[in-house]
Amino acid sequence: MPTTLIWYRQDLRLCDHRPLTRALEAGHEVVCCYVYDQHTPGRHRIGGASRWWLHHALVDLDAQLRQRGGRLILRAGRYADVLPTLVKESDASALYFSRHYEPFMADVETQLHADLTADGITVRRFAGNILFDPNQLRTKGGTPFKVFTPFWRNCLAQTPPSPPLAAPETIRFASSQPTSDSVDDWALLPTQPNWAGEMQATWTPTEEAAHQSLEQFLENDVERYNDARNLPSKKGTSRLSPYLHYGQISPAQVWHATTTHVAHRRGPSKGADTYLSEIGWREFSYHLLTQFPELPTKPFRENFERFPWKKNAKRLRAWQTGQTGFPIVDAGMRELWATGWMHNRVRMIVGSFLVKDLLIPWQQGAAWFWDTLVDADLAANSASWQWVAGCGADAAPYFRIFNPILQGEKFDKDGDYVRRWVPELADLPNKWLHNPAEAPANVLASANVTLGKTYPKPLIDRKAARQIALDAFAQIK
Ligand code: FAD
Repeated sequence: MPTTLIWYRQDLRLCDHRPLTRALEAGHEVVCCYVYDQHTPGRHRIGGASRWWLHHALVDLDAQLRQRGGRLILRAGRYADVLPTLVKESDASALYFSRHYEPFMADVETQLHADLTADGITVRRFAGNILFDPNQLRTKGGTPFKVFTPFWRNCLAQTPPSPPLAAPETIRFASSQPTSDSVDDWALLPTQPNWAGEMQATWTPTEEAAHQSLEQFLENDVERYNDARNLPSKKGTSRLSPYLHYGQISPAQVWHATTTHVAHRRGPSKGADTYLSEIGWREFSYHLLTQFPELPTKPFRENFERFPWKKNAKRLRAWQTGQTGFPIVDAGMRELWATGWMHNRVRMIVGSFLVKDLLIPWQQGAAWFWDTLVDADLAANSASWQWVAGCGADAAPYFRIFNPILQGEKFDKDGDYVRRWVPELADLPNKWLHNPAEAPANVLASANVTLGKTYPKPLIDRKAARQIALDAFAQIK
């Protein structure tokens, strides 16, 4: 019986896994592997919080394969070296995998295809972790989309994604399996245990938990998604982003579960439409990354190459550590550090603050997110940072500068979010919670707040900063 090597990547699941299912349908035995390559991606090697997630996702997948009589073979090293070796050691006649869209992965896939097919190995690449092939989506003029609304309209007019495949009940593993590293050899978990502690308490990084999160979201939250998704203190969003990034759930599974939910409801659901359009923003990010491979480093709008950014290590550090003196910004940055995740509304606020109030290059914000997010995703992170900075496709106009005080008062009216993450301000009344710098001295005193001591004074004068940002923008218009 021929053996196929299944190369697991950002598709760490058993359900809806085309490479595995197709190999089994073809009557092959399989060897399932994951390769940890921190060389090929260069500066985009997996960041700290993502490594924590990866560790647990691999443990989960391995456990699921063991329940079916096999295991996940782990190897570290360059894809280009390790995969041909594993093909040989497995005595495999085929390599199956799901496609990746990061620019450096495209080169790896092309090279592997060329090298292995030259040796008589069958290489099959299946669609990747998105709904539609980004290279097939084109405007009427035949060009890639640069604006989200027509892009998503076009997606909705395509043949819907195929229904998800069930997890194979039995898997025929090749009788001789290559040796494997232990996941502990890779030291993916942070050396600071208190960092991982809060992430551990927040997340269950398993395939089963991904399905439970989606089910609960559709049952309890999707109908009120339009309002609740902007409130960081509420659980109003699906929190599926890390599961989607690592492919513990596929976007097709999310799509079909959501449309089935709407069908059972027997009536339109605005919440579900908006939710699917957010999955659409994920698709759009991939569409942008494939047409513009420099997206992670270069502004989509060329005039921003001349933007007079101001690198400032001290201010960057204050932002990273949640010590800017702007409570909603600090709350977001501390939530990120503690849990590896930040609410989307707050991502926009902290992003705007970094690039428009501090004039720090968006790439530095993206790099920090890359290292600290459990859902760090090259397409979504790069496109979102460019959107926030005003230099991306279909981006927020540069002159729309979020006021963190007003944003806090609007989206964290009762202050629950700031009180959770900035406990030193917890006793301030709501009226001053988002703007402690303007609070009267007696109010600060009775809340035990001493600005500059128990909580930082504002890092910048916002009014002046806003004008500086607008002047900087005027230079590149
Ligand atoms: P939900 O509201 O439940 O949305 C469902 C899914 O849709 C998400 O899981 C995500 O996969 C997708 N999605 C939602 N909003 C967006 C968006 N604006 N762009 C792309 N996909 C979206 N998302 C990432 O997955 N990885 C990142 O590295 C990332 N970096 C970001 C950086 C900045 C500066 C900003 C403003 C946003 C970033 N996002 C990123 C997008 C968004 O904030 C997260 O996807 C979302 O907060 C995840 O929470 P959720 O799963 O509860 O989202």
